[in-house]
Amino acid sequence: MHQVIATPFQGSFLLLSPGKPQGLKIPQVKFDQLSALSADDPCPEWLTGVVHRTWKLDASGRKAADVMIVRSPSFLNYGRASYELNLGCNYDCKHCYLGVKEFEGLPWNDRVEVLHALRDAGVVWLQLTGGEPMIDKQFAATYSYAFALGMMIEVLTNGSRLFNPVMLDMLTQRRPHKLTLSVYGATEETYDGLTQRRGAHKAFSRGLAAAHEAGLPLELSIIITKDNAHEVDAMRALAERYGIPSADFANISPTIYGGADVLATQSPEHLTKRAQFNGCDAGSTFFHVDPHGNASTCKVARDPKISLVEEGIQGLRRLAGIADGLLARQGGCTGCQLSGTCGTCMPLASLFRKAKAPLANYCQHTEERKVAN
Ligand code: SF4
Ligand code: SF4
Repeated sequence: MHQVIATPFQGSFLLLSPGKPQGLKIPQVKFDQLSALSADDPCPEWLTGVVHRTWKLDASGRKAADVMIVRSPSFLNYGRASYELNLGCNYDCKHCYLGVKEFEGLPWNDRVEVLHALRDAGVVWLQLTGGEPMIDKQFAATYSYAFALGMMIEVLTNGSRLFNPVMLDMLTQRRPHKLTLSVYGATEETYDGLTQRRGAHKAFSRGLAAAHEAGLPLELSIIITKDNAHEVDAMRALAERYGIPSADFANISPTIYGGADVLATQSPEHLTKRAQFNGCDAGSTFFHVDPHGNASTCKVARDPKISLVEEGIQGLRRLAGIADGLLARQGGCTGCQLSGTCGTCMPLASLFRKAKAPLANYCQHTEERKVAN
């Protein structure tokens, strides 16, 4: 199993190690040298020195092919993607932006097609998400396959399956770039109430403790809603106790279908002003893939979509143009004098409008703007 990835990345060339935060740029001439190595060639001396200095890896006297995977250049410029394996979840969180969570994912052969498409599009950092990705029956196989293709993997999870020894074993052998666990409360009553599942807090706590004990790279996403706002400090203290980074998420979005019900879970006093939107590379350097293998601009801008199973990566040639169209101000945002200081991108504004959400959730105006046809 590889410990080093040599890969092109958006015009540069990188050396990375799964599960390790540090990476380094190498010149193209060195990357070309690594690409030209045959199966029996030993690691070049310079590589042995670099991986030892950077990650304390001992590659001396070993065949390069046993230590490293060398990725091929792509004609596309993508470096990151998210792949939603399955919308199914073992929880039923009141604020969830996925709305109806159908338990549907691709059969294995089609998943392999999608993973190859992600690799061939140049994706180095891949986020696996759901639903709850770890309850997907093919999670372990999908994770391992993506890892073997030379991707650095982040998993977004509620952590409820992390105490499973088989799962922990796989993740410690094939280390993720990051495991990001959502936190829905600091007490059993609040956590189980928000997720609408008895035992959810217990499963999360066991999973977090087990993953921490195994030394996996963890981060916490503290989800703040009306139900758990009184436990914000305790949730932050949990991250501090474990010594792991955390970030707060308090701005609730409508569902991906434009459903407004979830907005009622927002804790009004925690609604934060979004940072000024200065453009986004969605669709140009990263994209999203849904459980059916459809690639789209991002998790919010899901239409139009491109089937990776039917079209493969050739279809992705259209994605940057689709994204440009979606990101341009339109509809109620056309000609807005405040767009320069607005924190809501166009796809998100469109979703809030579809949900007929109160302007305070996303817009600087206090009254709906009338737009000439
Ligand atoms: S929601 Fe908006 S800011 Fe976020 S990735 Fe999509 S286009 Fe970019
Ligand atoms: S301030 Fe409101 S109308 Fe103006 S660009 Fe932002 S969301 Fe659109």
